[in-house]
Amino acid sequence: VSIDLDTEARVRADDRAHVFHSWSAQALIDPMPVAGGNGATFWDYQGNSFLDFGSQLVNLNLGHQHPDLVAAIQEQAGRLATIAPAMANDVRGELARRVTEVAPDGFEKVFFTNGGADANENAVRMARLVTGKRKVLSMYRSYHGSTSTAISLTGDPRRWANEPGDGSVAKFFGPYTYRSPFHSSSPEEEAQRALQHLEQTIVLEGASTIAAIIIETVVGTNGVLIPPPGYLNGVRELCDRYGIMYIADEVMVGFGRIGQWFAFQEFDVVPDLITFAKGINSGYVPLGGVVISERIAAHFDTVMFPGGLTYSGHPLACAAGLATFEVFDRDGILERVRDLGSRVIEPRLHEIASRHPSVGDVRGIGMFWAIELVKDRETREPLVPFNAAGAEAAPVSAVAAACKRDGLWPFVHFNRVHVAPPLVIDEDDLVRGLGIIDRALSQADEYVN
Ligand code: PLP
Repeated sequence: VSIDLDTEARVRADDRAHVFHSWSAQALIDPMPVAGGNGATFWDYQGNSFLDFGSQLVNLNLGHQHPDLVAAIQEQAGRLATIAPAMANDVRGELARRVTEVAPDGFEKVFFTNGGADANENAVRMARLVTGKRKVLSMYRSYHGSTSTAISLTGDPRRWANEPGDGSVAKFFGPYTYRSPFHSSSPEEEAQRALQHLEQTIVLEGASTIAAIIIETVVGTNGVLIPPPGYLNGVRELCDRYGIMYIADEVMVGFGRIGQWFAFQEFDVVPDLITFAKGINSGYVPLGGVVISERIAAHFDTVMFPGGLTYSGHPLACAAGLATFEVFDRDGILERVRDLGSRVIEPRLHEIASRHPSVGDVRGIGMFWAIELVKDRETREPLVPFNAAGAEAAPVSAVAAACKRDGLWPFVHFNRVHVAPPLVIDEDDLVRGLGIIDRALSQADEYVN
């Protein structure tokens, strides 16, 4: 890691003058110029390096500059850099086959997109066309992307400024054991009550109007909310009973984040449509997609599918996806995730929780964890309000700043710190990073009542 302040100044100047950033008031931000990255670490131009505990946007599952992915992209670029979606292409076809091989029986087709939002858009489009119905149910506390239907499906404040959006979307409460909207006292009761609420929502919205229910298998940015036992199976039953398609949004949790190819495999349930992106190739080249069950695919055997993208199944992206499968198989990534999650992260976070009064709950699975911060463990009042920004968010911003000073780039959202490092992080770095978070949480303890 070297110091290069001239380059930094130029990168910052171009960025500030010309790059229009996502989710930002443009004049109020100062994006950090990044000089490079390797594995679970990236660095700036000032000689500072950071453990990447959010895997960028929880997409960098195989870390920065994985040599196999880089080589696969280079090799493909030398052979055929791009080709229209109407052609048959070797890496595109092979990746589609590999994806269906790890999907449940009865999933044989993949529609490739550029990312997660357009995967969800197209899954909803398929469900609407196949059922002849229009409405889609989605959860409060969810994120499904920022294109028009995907942002309407989103159950967090990023939707608000985009309203009114797709009018054919209705929201329901998903299970959240730590802050039960149903006043339940156990995960089993939470599942049952959440299912009763979902069924009421279906009945009141009108089953004959509902094409699909979309659910993040483990809710990601909005809290690492793991479905309690029986919940997703109950959703499946309701979908069957009422003729509704079940779309599993696996954009953040698919491809290894919780130690499964697809997270729903952990919960023994089979959806009708699966959307993915991020971990399929760690975002080295943009790629997402929809895995389509037979019944839905069959509908489009003789009826045209009215959707498409210039870069559907881009060869560079697919080559990186194929390399991802090879690395996962060769290096036992899924086993590694389950092992590090249960042997290292889980016990360490519980030990951290026991010493910090600001920690109300820790929860997670595999390499996907949340530390939920509170002002008061008894009342569970969040350390900062829902959707806190600016001064209101100071207690959590202080934790984030302390992490960065100590060399860790954290993923923080509202009153939570998430732990989602690259799946290839060295065990030593993982332990070191958890130590940095431990120390940083002293900042949050200052605000406890
Ligand atoms: N769905 C989930 C669960 C996500 O976490 C995200 C992105 O964070 C998306 C969809 C949208 O994906 P993209 O940003 O690639 O459009």
